[in-house]
Amino acid sequence: MTNAKLEGTQPQSIISGVAYQRCINPQCGYTLDVGQVRTACDRCGDLLDIEYDWDRIRVPSQLSHFEQMWLQRHSPLRFSGVWRFHELLPFAPAEKVVTVGEGQTLLQKANFVANFVGLEKENLFLQYEGMNPSGSFKDNGMCAAITHAHLTGARRAACASTGNTSASLAMYSSVTGLMKAIIFIGSGKISYGKLSQALEYGALTVQIAGDFDDAMQRVREVSKDLGIYVVNSINPFRLEGQKTIMFRVLEALRWQVPDWIVVPGGNLGNSSAFGKAFIELKQLGLIERVPRLAVINAAGADTLYQLYSRRGLRWNSGQPDMGVVRDYYDDLDSRSAKADTIASAIEINRPVNLTKCLRALDFCDGVVRRVTDQEILDAKAQVGAGGIGCEPASAASVAGAKLLREEGVIAPSDRVVCILTGHQLKDPTATVAYHTTDQEKFNEVLGSRGVSRASFANRAVAVPNEVEAIVRAIQLYS
Ligand SMILES: *Cc1c(COP(=O)(O)O)cnc(C)c1O
Ligand SMILES: [Zn+2]
Repeated sequence: MTNAKLEGTQPQSIISGVAYQRCINPQCGYTLDVGQVRTACDRCGDLLDIEYDWDRIRVPSQLSHFEQMWLQRHSPLRFSGVWRFHELLPFAPAEKVVTVGEGQTLLQKANFVANFVGLEKENLFLQYEGMNPSGSFKDNGMCAAITHAHLTGARRAACASTGNTSASLAMYSSVTGLMKAIIFIGSGKISYGKLSQALEYGALTVQIAGDFDDAMQRVREVSKDLGIYVVNSINPFRLEGQKTIMFRVLEALRWQVPDWIVVPGGNLGNSSAFGKAFIELKQLGLIERVPRLAVINAAGADTLYQLYSRRGLRWNSGQPDMGVVRDYYDDLDSRSAKADTIASAIEINRPVNLTKCLRALDFCDGVVRRVTDQEILDAKAQVGAGGIGCEPASAASVAGAKLLREEGVIAPSDRVVCILTGHQLKDPTATVAYHTTDQEKFNEVLGSRGVSRASFANRAVAVPNEVEAIVRAIQLYS
């Protein structure tokens, strides 16, 4: 390991020499102190990773060690489902980390949904990341990014968002009072549940006449000009926090590695973080076997599927054929193609973490599939009917698992974990439209998306305002 020379004004509070930033392109390998703020490699422009000098960290020899952290939950550091695993993401001193109690999430054995997916009973698990304080998995990463932002002296943090990143950033900013949140949203695409959070938590909300991919581009430019800290998932510290989702999945399975992890793919931060978690656990000898990874795109935002499954793009030992990617994007531009799916959280055509995700797919023998909005909403209805529920994008994981089961890629006896990335109440518009009896409402919200039926609708029963009619209806339907 060669640490880059410290540049400019270095905050002394950050551990130096234990953690560092490194370009993910092995041929470049540029390194940088963790005190520096970058969203890309200075030398080649590729993504950055946080790397650790593991020999100098006291990593527990058994994963079960982390269960004992829960006994110390009176300490905010141990109460956090992220910082409980501090030894596996030690880029900041333990006493400096930011937490609002994120990561108290649930892995549920979901037999009802297993039946829908086509798995043997007891074999499907749903990881409810919607139980986080701001209602999505983003809090796992945001606490890590805000920790780093604060250590580097940031007073303003920004993100482009399809909704949940901004809700999370806005929440951390207001709870901690450490910095001002500035969020960039595209026009019209953000769900009310998410927008209402950002507004209420007091974030400066900049609505751009464009889509998410435009907002993402602008936030990078504007933040660079103004020196604002960017918390999108191009921020490598965020992904460190998101590794802990996998640690908690393993913990809930009593440290047994499942056969499959299935996750929706948008900007591909989560899938990238999961891959890195398994690379490191394996390297540290904390697991023997690695699960397979399935990343699921929405059919209306299927860049990863197109590149990986149709055009054969691979990590290729860190030298993916970026010509294939450029050609694909040029083609999107020439057709003025825009991402379009009811699963707004994954309505992204230019995933910023593409190369990291390729690495994760390579390490975890991954597959990529795409599912239609019809399949997403039907899967979401089944997840909801099984209890707790999720937002549309999250259900892509369950729809994807079902598809892979039908293809025979996943066997009925495989143990499968689907990540439910966001809370059921994030996007009530889609849910109510699905279950409505009002055909016009259904068409308005879902018809344009190619959704033609609500296979598992639970429709309200209309009755006259009379006791007798109500009694009759209840007896008929229950
Ligand atoms: C952000 C988000 C995703 C997409 O995750 P990526 O890491 O960008 O691939 C999926 N589902 C929900 C609910 C999200 O908020
Ligand atoms: Zn580089």
